[in-house]
Amino acid sequence: MEDLLFEQFPPTPPGTEDQLKKAVILQHNWAYDDSADYVPSSIRNRIPHHLKTDGKLYLRRGTEGFMYRTSLNHKWGVVIFIIKSMVIHGVDFLPLSQKIATSQPLQSTAFPPPINYANHGNSMDAFIHAIWFTLRSRIPDLQALTPGFDFVGLFFGPDFLHNIQTILRGFVPDARRVFKDGNFSLDDILNIPKLTSTWAPTGSIIYIRLYHKEDRASYGSAIYVGQTIQLQKRHSQHNTETLTSRARHYQIARQFTLEERHMIPICIWEDDIPFHVLTMAEQTVVLLLNSYMTFTNDTLSPTNSFYPFFQRIQFMRRLVQDLQQRLPWAPNITLTGLNVETPLISTRTFRYISAIPGLQFVESAQTFTRYRTPIAFSRKDNCACVYRLSMRDGVNKIRVSISIPEADVNSMQIPNNGFLIFEIMDNGQPHPNPWIRCPAVGPFEDFIQASALGIRFEWYNENQNTWLSTTVHKFGSPGMVQIAAKENNIRLPMSIWLSAIYIIQALEGIVYSDYQPNQGFYKRLTFGSVHVKQLQTDHLKQTYQWIHRPEILRPFPKIATWQYNFSLMVKRFSSLSTFIPHEPVNHLADINRYNPAGDNKPLRVQFRTKCDFCILSSTPHHLPCIPDNSSPYGQVCMICSLFNRPCSFTRPAELIELWGQETPTLHPKTPLSLYPTGPHRFLAFYLVRSQGVREVQEPREKALGLFQDQQMAILDEDTDDD
Ligand SMILES: [Zn+2]
Ligand SMILES: [Zn+2]
Repeated sequence: MEDLLFEQFPPTPPGTEDQLKKAVILQHNWAYDDSADYVPSSIRNRIPHHLKTDGKLYLRRGTEGFMYRTSLNHKWGVVIFIIKSMVIHGVDFLPLSQKIATSQPLQSTAFPPPINYANHGNSMDAFIHAIWFTLRSRIPDLQALTPGFDFVGLFFGPDFLHNIQTILRGFVPDARRVFKDGNFSLDDILNIPKLTSTWAPTGSIIYIRLYHKEDRASYGSAIYVGQTIQLQKRHSQHNTETLTSRARHYQIARQFTLEERHMIPICIWEDDIPFHVLTMAEQTVVLLLNSYMTFTNDTLSPTNSFYPFFQRIQFMRRLVQDLQQRLPWAPNITLTGLNVETPLISTRTFRYISAIPGLQFVESAQTFTRYRTPIAFSRKDNCACVYRLSMRDGVNKIRVSISIPEADVNSMQIPNNGFLIFEIMDNGQPHPNPWIRCPAVGPFEDFIQASALGIRFEWYNENQNTWLSTTVHKFGSPGMVQIAAKENNIRLPMSIWLSAIYIIQALEGIVYSDYQPNQGFYKRLTFGSVHVKQLQTDHLKQTYQWIHRPEILRPFPKIATWQYNFSLMVKRFSSLSTFIPHEPVNHLADINRYNPAGDNKPLRVQFRTKCDFCILSSTPHHLPCIPDNSSPYGQVCMICSLFNRPCSFTRPAELIELWGQETPTLHPKTPLSLYPTGPHRFLAFYLVRSQGVREVQEPREKALGLFQDQQMAILDEDTDDD
């Protein structure tokens, strides 16, 4: 069960159907013994044993349930789990279909635009304020123009004024100087500094492409407004497309030589600004310079595929014309507009990743938050399925490959289209089928958190009319330790570890409060124009809504000290079977002296000379365990030293037991499993066996109003920034 958004009230024992149906929440932690005498016989001893600890069910404060019966004196109530005096009362149960009807997206209240724009000091600032206050008063019109438009809260919500301020401070000084009085010419715009081979600003940028010939008699000049986080690259992309694309923008661009195609940054933010503010800024500049394409008469027909674009453009043009009559904004430019999209209500902003938090019922249960997004794998005939997840930190694009091996693709008949599911454990502990399995002890504190991420792929099988799912894992985790040994640095294992950390950060919206550059981390990561929408339920009111997943502040990852890692190794792995030297010791002699069994038999030197990490990373080849004589921490091997952790030594027979010995094995001569399942699997990087195909329920989101039209919502591999 993923949530309590039922269509029908949960089944209750016979004879109770006509009684009350009330949503309730547990107010205190509670232990419940369903074998007690006072429990009605109809529900006595019904709770499965695996949910109980010492014969009792432990329920957490906040657990949601439904009450369906009360005693005559109203002193007792029967809830799905609990007793009346322990709960908070809500409204009567509502079926899901009614919840959908009442769970409409964010507010769309109209605000009257302020009348006096004169306080803004200059025409440009006044005009921009006027644009946004007017748009805010016309939210219902925007929603009518683009069905599904639901970013109202982001654009016009509590940050509305801050968003406008952010846009205003982005204008480069020369653009501000040109625009501020509202009566500029084409020559003025051409005087704003352009991208050149020696000047390429970085950051989030709103640019114009200005196509202009000195001899204006032969061709009219044309303008296009876009946004990018890589100005130079975007410039090259435009030039490449100009050669090949059949889009009208490029057909016109082709009439100009390279030197006549100017890339002019209008707004630059060197700090990272949210994507939706960048979109608002793009819309602002489109309206300031009236860069919309003019449509021909046949576009006016509602059957034309451009008609929705045309409608949005008409709406925006009228809005600007109306404002121009009231405000001193009269640019003296006649340019051919090339923008077709209306950024604010463009369809490209409707891609999202859904997030459904796990339900915590029982104290002992481990829950995860599940993220889902439609994707299309790229694949060339019968090869592995590969999907490159694209993230951004405001300046850089960060790509992480997620793939399914060719053998699995063939044996499971995996199609290209489906849903990618990310599951992140709520307690930060390892997922049962993690995407990468990393050791518990490594260069950063809480190193194991990268294993809290599990990934699955789900697809619809038309022939069987079923939804199928398989687990997805990163390959090559153990082998990379061998590469690290060879290169004498842990760049490769860390890059794999970081890729899981990046995905977790972007999904959970983690922003590091005390960010430090050059450590391999990003302050914040997003999926560009793709937003994460989180299911928020109000159990007591029996409602739900999809909200924009808020960002959360977290402290910057801490480098693990030797002492931290030593304590962690001892805590997790030290036992009579596993020895963790804690002081400078002579490599062989001292380890051989160690004999926890106290039987005075010497340990097997041959096996003993290798530490666990080196043994467990011996795939595909044996890894030599060489003492690191330069380490200030005494006895530690080269590999463990690279990871800043002590070596551990486990008796051979026990290591096999504590790690696992199922075939296939790490190495032909080693009875240690390639897919370990024992507690010592947290000593090293290791592989996870694919779980095969299993049938799953239809995506919950479909019932909750998301991903109705899968094609529309496909998460692009590489979201275009134009
Ligand atoms: Zn070693
Ligand atoms: Zn070692």
